[in-house]
Amino acid sequence: MALYRVENISFAYQEEWVLRNVDLEIEEGDFVGILGPNGSGKSTLLKVMSGLLQPQEGRVSLENREIHRIPPGERARQIGVVPQETYLDFPFMLEEVVAMGRYPHLGWWGTLRYRDMEYVEEALATTGLLELRNRTIHQLSGGERQRGIIARALAQNPRVLLLDEPVSNLDIKYQQGIFELLLQLNRREGLTIILVSHDLNLASQYCKNLILLDRGRLKALGPAEEVLTSENIKQVYQVEVEVEKWSPLGKPRINLRPPDLEEGGQKGIIPRRIHVVGGGGSSWRLLKRLRSAGHELSLGAVNEGDTDSEGARELNIKCVREIPFHHISDEKLNQTLEMMVEADLVVIAEVPFGRGNIGNLRMALAALQKGKKVFVLDGENIANRDFTGGDAVKLWEEMKKHGARTVTPRELEQILKEGEEDGQKEKN
Ligand code: ADP
Repeated sequence: MALYRVENISFAYQEEWVLRNVDLEIEEGDFVGILGPNGSGKSTLLKVMSGLLQPQEGRVSLENREIHRIPPGERARQIGVVPQETYLDFPFMLEEVVAMGRYPHLGWWGTLRYRDMEYVEEALATTGLLELRNRTIHQLSGGERQRGIIARALAQNPRVLLLDEPVSNLDIKYQQGIFELLLQLNRREGLTIILVSHDLNLASQYCKNLILLDRGRLKALGPAEEVLTSENIKQVYQVEVEVEKWSPLGKPRINLRPPDLEEGGQKGIIPRRIHVVGGGGSSWRLLKRLRSAGHELSLGAVNEGDTDSEGARELNIKCVREIPFHHISDEKLNQTLEMMVEADLVVIAEVPFGRGNIGNLRMALAALQKGKKVFVLDGENIANRDFTGGDAVKLWEEMKKHGARTVTPRELEQILKEGEEDGQKEKN
């Protein structure tokens, strides 16, 4: 039996329907992301599911009990809610804020007992906040505060956690931290999690199932690979995207196609497909410059978690990623070579080469042998970055014989502007 049943609900704040005929079920132990453009009704759906708003049509039930018929205290023991914004003007201590989560459980006298404090303790421990318990809520960073609000909901010991954009104001590291925490709660404690998210890729990576709303109607429901198709996204968000099906996490990744690409990029620049070999932050600025000039980019192979890998993620650049701290495998090298061959040209950033990533140079040589143009930034000084005992230098010498060129970043820019990729102006 489904835990949650949303049966054909319609909801309006005033005259206009904000949700229309939404019908879905959520199983216990699921981790669901609610997606959709601004104003599509995501927050409203979450509020209807929490019992805060009552739909004009249809019904919502939790384990076959209509949510409005469950007394508020009991409802709060079942459902923990993390709202979009929490206003806490009074400088409560973190521990006091988390203890507020116990209120629905307190007896007649409203005093916290030993057992309540155990839940508070556990919620603080789970969210990694034990050491900060005596700080006031205003002495916490955005990420710690958000974890505190989640801890308050966990102290309720609920079966379901509903969260409205839990990471919207956090930087990328805290975003990942919160999603990892939720994933653990879902996997280890079996907590059912339903959250509203703005970020398609985070939701794709972490959620088991997704709900896509389109102007108050249910557009799609199911696992990410069924919901996040380029057609669905185009229809709902009105943007062109590429869906990368083979991201290293096995979940689809959405890459926005910059509109200037379709219009031919910046003035005087012919947009090209460029494959970049980077790593360790060596290509981050290069990627940004090439992207803003309107080129279509790919990167790799790099290790997951590497600065350039993260940079590519932020810029929605296709990337071949190996698992952290592993040598780049033959499989990933083959994918890299495929990308190089598909590109118009290959650029190798000032990457230090070691045993783990030297394969990228072998792939660049193979691409040259297939007739691809390869440019190496500061190629002549590759010896300073060669930590393989000389293999990188040898490969570079071999690459030169096949037409690879050393360039400065300025020269590269000039070459891309003038279409002078092989040292001679292209004849039109
Ligand atoms: P989302 O979370 O997808 O951005 P919301 O559920 O917040 O969407 O809002 C859906 C629609 O309902 C929007 O058009 C919004 O302006 C409207 N709306 C939201 N809250 C209220 C409210 N309290 N009163 C009136 N209209 C509201």
